[in-house]
Amino acid sequence: MKNIMIAGAGVLGSQIAYQTALSGFNVSVYNHHIDTAERRIKALKADYERDLHLTADEFQKGLDNIKIITDDIATAVKDADLMIEALPESLDLKEHFYEEVSKLAPEKTIFASNSSTFIPSQLAPFTDRPAKFLNMHFANQIWKFNVVEIMGTAQTDSQVIEEATDFSREIKMVPIVLHKEQHGYILNSLLIPLLASGLNLWAKGIAEPEMIDKDWMISTGAPMGPFGILDMVGLRTAAQIERNTYAQTKDESHKAIADKMDEMIKEGHEGKESGQGFYTY
Ligand code: NAD
Repeated sequence: MKNIMIAGAGVLGSQIAYQTALSGFNVSVYNHHIDTAERRIKALKADYERDLHLTADEFQKGLDNIKIITDDIATAVKDADLMIEALPESLDLKEHFYEEVSKLAPEKTIFASNSSTFIPSQLAPFTDRPAKFLNMHFANQIWKFNVVEIMGTAQTDSQVIEEATDFSREIKMVPIVLHKEQHGYILNSLLIPLLASGLNLWAKGIAEPEMIDKDWMISTGAPMGPFGILDMVGLRTAAQIERNTYAQTKDESHKAIADKMDEMIKEGHEGKESGQGFYTY
């Protein structure tokens, strides 16, 4: 693999694009707002300097490998060996995108989704290449929390799983291959119940986010509590997950939590990225 396309340069896509470029691959980025994509990728400089001690020159070398940032799918996918999709967590939006990209991608292109909540067999039917489709799920802040969960469907070619595993190692990730499809993979099967329980305690007025986090952190020795993690994930994604859960379960408590987070988002509390979420940064 040499040419990698990243679709969506939001919280996760920008990180995947930069980490891949820093590892020497040619990267093309597709995002409907080109300026926002550029800004997000460049904003990673402070993180890489702080956490990986990259110099300004080294950071720039990574940037130089991002060959194209475009709002045109055809241009971005033209010669891609692998396309990693990190578009918003909406099934309709992903369906539309996969139908389009299937028409435009060369036959060789492997498609991987970074989706947190949709399993690959929900997405593969939108494409023309179920044997070359899998999920590659990165953890937020991939340069330091460097895990990729790799999950195919029963139709995914085993060679494709191997190629994705090798690629993950080449971009300095630790690949974790799941043998079966599992909603939430391994990480989120553990994490989502924790975040949901935290949000539920907050929505019910049991305690403030800071107190809920403090209890969890001191009691377990964990470096962060659910609300610190929610700020990192971003409130847009977290609210969408609550809305999806409400749509599936009709449990009104998920709707109430999503509404409460929507109010925060409207007031600019989008999470760490915007400088404020449950905490101020
Ligand atoms: P985000 O909202 O931060 O980013 C989405 C990006 O897509 C934005 O840059 C937006 O401008 C762009 N976009 C929106 N609609 C588009 C369109 N039609 N065409 C092109 N670009 C479009 O989302 P995110 O948090 O990075 O999540 C993206 C995916 O990654 C989701 O599937 C999510 O489940 C998954 N994920 C997120 C996290 C996390 O911690 N945020 C972790 C792992 C996986």
